[in-house]
Amino acid sequence: QWIYLDGQFVTKDNAKISVYDHGFLYGDGIFEGIRIYNGNIFKCKEHLDRLYDSAKSIMLNIPLTYQEMEDALVETLRRNELRDGYIRLVVSRGAGNLGLDPNRCPKASVIIIAEQLAIYSEEAYKTGLKTVSVSTKRNIPDALNPKIKSLNYLNNILVKIQSNLSGAGEAIMLNSQGYVTEGSGDNIFIVKNGVITTPPCYLGALEGITRQAIIDICHEKGYKLKEEPFTLHDVYVADEVFLTGTAAEVIAVREVDGRIIGEGHAGPITLKLLEEFRSIVDKDGLK
Ligand code: PLP
Repeated sequence: QWIYLDGQFVTKDNAKISVYDHGFLYGDGIFEGIRIYNGNIFKCKEHLDRLYDSAKSIMLNIPLTYQEMEDALVETLRRNELRDGYIRLVVSRGAGNLGLDPNRCPKASVIIIAEQLAIYSEEAYKTGLKTVSVSTKRNIPDALNPKIKSLNYLNNILVKIQSNLSGAGEAIMLNSQGYVTEGSGDNIFIVKNGVITTPPCYLGALEGITRQAIIDICHEKGYKLKEEPFTLHDVYVADEVFLTGTAAEVIAVREVDGRIIGEGHAGPITLKLLEEFRSIVDKDGLK
């Protein structure tokens, strides 16, 4: 496996960064997770737009132009002979001193890891996930703007620990007002009486690229879709609940805090949207 590290391709064992890197010391950096389907970098532009926007927002100077970044992604796939898999693109503030000041970090580091991905079994897409709700502070202005896909994921990790302790595979996060925001690394949708609802991202969710792809599919295919705040009660009584994300695609939730959702397995709209989503993944992106 070849890893792109600051302009060089190195093996996994040789892919090392400084202990003074502020990405390591402070979580000071940004990242993207991107899927490759049949040689197509799915929604490449959307991911790079989000990356460069996150960088601008935190005043991180990415040392590659947009075109150079695209070329680096393509070359990483070529070197690894990967046509299906997952890319993790990380830009950290780079090596500095032990202080917080990013001015002491002269050059950001760019790392691209590409590998195979098997997150959920095909069975899991039918049975759905068991989840628990966890309240968090992941909403503006309490915390960092969730539009920034920063390396600072401690909040999400605490949520994951909480769901592990409850014996659930995934968590549903609430903001401090009690509105549902997202999963630990996925966006959330509910379906009730044929209407699909997802929370507006200003409540405290990442503007997920899979989320947007599902919204686009709903518009194209004539599903009723709303972006509206909702609470846990609405989740408990929904006919269907599903999560969306680059790695997970579209996956049903069968249980939330001990309440069985709908029939207790993936519902028809969730499965239809998964099918529609999978029909575009090798088209909409960079070949
Ligand atoms: N929410 C969080 C916190 C995430 O980390 C992710 C993953 O990137 C998502 C949602 C889903 O976003 P996307 O569909 O762009 O992968």
